[in-house]
Amino acid sequence: MHLLILGGTTEARRLAEAVHGTVRVTSSLAGRVAAPRLPPGEVRIGGFGGAEGLARWLREHRVDAVIDATHPFADTISSNAARAAAAVHVPLLVLRRPGWAPVEGDDWHPVDTLTEAADVARSLGRRVFLTTGRMGLASFAHVTDAWFLVRSVDPPEPPHPPHMRVLLDRGPFTLDGERALLRDHAVDVLVTKDSGGAATAPKLRAAREAGIPVVLLRRPPLPADVPAAETVEEATEWVTRLVAPGREARCTTSPRLRS
Ligand code: NAP
Repeated sequence: MHLLILGGTTEARRLAEAVHGTVRVTSSLAGRVAAPRLPPGEVRIGGFGGAEGLARWLREHRVDAVIDATHPFADTISSNAARAAAAVHVPLLVLRRPGWAPVEGDDWHPVDTLTEAADVARSLGRRVFLTTGRMGLASFAHVTDAWFLVRSVDPPEPPHPPHMRVLLDRGPFTLDGERALLRDHAVDVLVTKDSGGAATAPKLRAAREAGIPVVLLRRPPLPADVPAAETVEEATEWVTRLVAPGREARCTTSPRLRS
């Protein structure tokens, strides 16, 4: 069986590690990161050319199943995967870690777009810790009266805010490290996507402890009518069931995941 994992996340890499050896695995990366952490198995890098290109690729490479384990905010590839898998009748599972939930003491300001995030952040503070990735910096470029601490894996390119410091780093991050960052840079507002997961969650606790408001970008919806799993273990069971039909698999179409 040939499984295609659409990757670019920790979960995609862990899934490839889990099923490599049981099935033939090809992991696909978009090519955004200069030196990605590579999973075991075959790896291909770069776009497919839309849903049609992906459908062609699935056919040409005799793919038997697809797991979309891309980032919760990578909604174009997720929508393309749903269309392509349906077109060539290949089973598709979406693997999405759950989003974060606020706890007492959090001061979260949910928004739907980066443009809105820029407006809300500007209304809350002047020293912004921006962790939404280098690709969306253009939405903050017009904010001239605030200073930004921008954390990204690779260096950002213009347009970007005029007053900023770039911190090149990638998770997982520690609570002590996040506390120090907020304190040392006198951050008064944090902007983040609702990425979920443990690797980047300590910034939320550090913000809560320091009484710093958080502008939280809501997730785009998942494609309709695609089964979804929340954990690598559930996705592994799904693969196991495809390889040996009859075994029970726990995958869900949880409404929570679709919110
Ligand atoms: P996107 O907006 O959903 O996708 C844009 C285009 O990039 C897609 O149409 C596709 O090109 C190509 N693409 C995306 N993921 C791909 C993959 N795994 N393999 C091959 N091509 C892919 O995606 P994005 O938000 O730019 O994210 C790109 C990658 O970075 C994803 O793999 C994602 O998991 C990872 N990532 C994203 C974020 C985020 O915040 N968005 C954060 C961390 C990691 P074609 O149409 O030509 O096929």
